Amino acid sequence: MSLEFRHIAHAYGEVRALEDISFTAPAGEITCLLGASGCGKSTLLGLAAGLLRVQQGEVALGDEVLADAQRNPPPEARPVGLVFQDGALFPHMTLAANVAFGLPKARRDEADSWLAKVGLAGMGARYPHELSGGQQQRAALARAMAPEPQVLLMDEPFASVDIVLRRKLRRECRILLREAGATVVLVTHDPAEALDIADRI
Ligand code: ADP
Ligand code: MG
Repeated sequence: MSLEFRHIAHAYGEVRALEDISFTAPAGEITCLLGASGCGKSTLLGLAAGLLRVQQGEVALGDEVLADAQRNPPPEARPVGLVFQDGALFPHMTLAANVAFGLPKARRDEADSWLAKVGLAGMGARYPHELSGGQQQRAALARAMAPEPQVLLMDEPFASVDIVLRRKLRRECRILLREAGATVVLVTHDPAEALDIADRI
């Protein structure tokens, strides 16, 4: 399902972060938003995810308006997954519990197979602090992908991973996202990263 931004404007008080932004992230493709720090990338993702209320314009999923100035469904009611820069795993929960968190009860036992897909087979009983930064980021990816969201929003997801591992991780990530067939919007300020992973920039 495509994700479309139509004439979005957004202000934080006096700061006008976005002005008349329109673009479509096509279904099943990886679209990169590439731009300098402060240009409004995270704001756009926040509007689609429901972390921010749309002030002007609309966000559409396929043929349906997901959010506009009137409609503001909460994040958990949107078929949208989010991955942040620091992974943001729940520190007091095991990896398996982290991944199972977003799954319906009947599917909780799928957590281990999602961990295996991101190269963390057998690590379900570990806690986030027992992992390297790259492993934590993989786990965060598994958690975001497990509920099989129609749209996955990724905000600088590899920024906290060291540079050697980063290249490897994003290649693997691209393959996984491809398999899942998800519509992805990935934010980065790194042109090399955008060229490496994107279908469209
Ligand atoms: P990016 O993700 O591209 O770095 P952001 O979307 O985070 O950019 O921010 C866009 C602009 O909005 C920046 O000028 C930033 O300082 C400002 N901004 C972001 N969040 C807030 C906030 N909560 N309050 C005030 N200004 C903000
Ligand atoms: Mg940002």
